[in-house]
Amino acid sequence: MNCNEQFDVIVIGSGLAGSLLATVLARHNIRVALIDKNVHPRFAIGEAMTPDTDLMMTILSHQYSVPEINHLSSFKNICHNISPSACGLKRSFNFIYHRSGEKQTLQETNKVGVHPSSHLFRQEVDQYMANVAVKYGVKLLEKIKILDFNINSEGVQVYLEAGKKLTANYLVDASGYNSILSRKLNLREVPTRLKTQSRSIFTHMVDVKRYDDCITNSKNKDGLFWYQGTLHHIFDGGWMWVIPFNNHEQSNNPVCSVGINFNNHRFPKTETSAEQEFKNFLSQYPGVAIQFENAKPIRDWVSTGRLQYSSHSCTGERFYLLPHAAGFIDALYSFGLVNSCTIIIPLAARIMKALSRNDYSTEPFMELENLQQKLFDYNDNLVNCSYISFASYNLWDAWRRFWLLGSFMRQTKAGLSKELKIAAGKGEELAKFRDDDSLDSLTPSYEGLGDEFFQKATTTVEQVEAGLLSPDEAASLLMSLLNSIDFLPNNFWKIGDVHRKDIDTESAFINSEHSRFMSWVKTSKKPEVKKYFDYDMEDLVSAIQLAAAKG
Ligand SMILES: Cc1cc2nc3c(=O)[nH]c(=O)nc-3n(C[C@H](O)[C@H](O)[C@H](O)COP(=O)(O)OP(=O)(O)OC[C@H]3O[C@@H](n4cnc5c(N)ncnc54)[C@H](O)[C@@H]3O)c2cc1C
Repeated sequence: MNCNEQFDVIVIGSGLAGSLLATVLARHNIRVALIDKNVHPRFAIGEAMTPDTDLMMTILSHQYSVPEINHLSSFKNICHNISPSACGLKRSFNFIYHRSGEKQTLQETNKVGVHPSSHLFRQEVDQYMANVAVKYGVKLLEKIKILDFNINSEGVQVYLEAGKKLTANYLVDASGYNSILSRKLNLREVPTRLKTQSRSIFTHMVDVKRYDDCITNSKNKDGLFWYQGTLHHIFDGGWMWVIPFNNHEQSNNPVCSVGINFNNHRFPKTETSAEQEFKNFLSQYPGVAIQFENAKPIRDWVSTGRLQYSSHSCTGERFYLLPHAAGFIDALYSFGLVNSCTIIIPLAARIMKALSRNDYSTEPFMELENLQQKLFDYNDNLVNCSYISFASYNLWDAWRRFWLLGSFMRQTKAGLSKELKIAAGKGEELAKFRDDDSLDSLTPSYEGLGDEFFQKATTTVEQVEAGLLSPDEAASLLMSLLNSIDFLPNNFWKIGDVHRKDIDTESAFINSEHSRFMSWVKTSKKPEVKKYFDYDMEDLVSAIQLAAAKG
């Protein structure tokens, strides 16, 4: 490398987010340098995908014409195009509630079946994406230390070790928690505004049992197995993830990711080692311990401090901080990667426009920052209320329905028309809308449910924490709120039916629910329904015909 090289954009951090953005830009002839202090393959956390994340990957791929990004958008695609060892199967979100000292009876559980999504074995997947970036012309600089950088009205200068200097017109920070931009520019909020208080211990293990083999009365009449999803063990004060990569026929990867997340106030970090803390936890929860009778860690345990951090600002002239560099809440509901993709979709178009006009004013990026901050606040409320609700199964069972509803609203709002275009074989049309794509469709909201819907739900749960409501009172208020919704077809998904614990969004029942929902959108007299769930009938018909032709 020359001692002084010029690029259009420098991206710091070649994790999944940095490599995705760099690839998209390079695909459109932008000269990109991607700098990482580490070298691939390397461990990374953030392994559970969701249908929302899959959808955003698909949109990103079609909108910017990068088919290799679509390879990350489903379990099948990853197995086929990357490697079966790079992923586990996520056929469902599985939740099992545990009580201290009690054996598991599976009386208090929930399963949410989804279109097969995945668990990413990040060291392989991140390496794949960094290689794709290089294939499109990105200059990847690995194992190199950034000594300093400058951003001024003339451009960006990044100083590397060995006297190397890179210059560019725009700088993106994708370096995660240790974000060097937020440190140098004092962007972090101290203290953070985020309400959630949690910390985590995690590792990779082998010989973790399938939960289905740990109990005698495993509920899999519905065809959903505990081991074929992301398993969440819930307890008063926290939750645990079990994310296997070895849970499908083609896998030759024996690894399972395991982590416990504690409410920081209830279980403050002490001198106890993470490994010992894990053992102490298992001794309290026999219903969890049984799964780990033979399990062995294959890497050192990590024990974090408080997980939450936030930034008062994520952008300025000539720079942008991707979500994981700007803030983080908690692994619950796996918001990390979906937030990154949600931001990269409009950010890439804005950067290209700025470069073409040689105008780096912050205004178009401020809109994006507002979306990013909204995503953090929304995630924070969902997660904080979840930790409060873990005190009682009834409250947790009511609250998780709000997460489900929010996911559905967001997917349909962000994806319905785009997904149908893709399904109808018109994915390439999305590229035309890139420049003026509205952020509105990416913004999380329960818009049609009334301005105060989510706020009301959040306040109800927070009143439990304040001692103003009992968990059962709050649970019953939440169920009434769900049953008061008149913006969705009557009794949609039976979301307000306390007896409906499990739902399979891939099942025939749900497919008929979706047809009911789509015809309800078209026949609704409410203009806000049509506006919110907009889709083109012509695309729907072509998508159905195409699916029928494929058999
Ligand atoms: C405990 C935990 C669990 C999580 N679980 C999930 C989950 O299940 N699902 C999900 O979607 N999200 C999850 N997340 C969030 C997820 O980890 C992030 O959203 C995701 O990794 C973001 O990817 P990224 O590329 O932005 O950052 P990272 O994956 O953190 O990558 C950052 C890159 O920057 C490099 N870097 C760092 N500092 C420098 C520097 N100074 N110079 C050069 N390079 C640098 C690093 O080497 C790394 O390659 C979790 C997060 C935590 C903390």
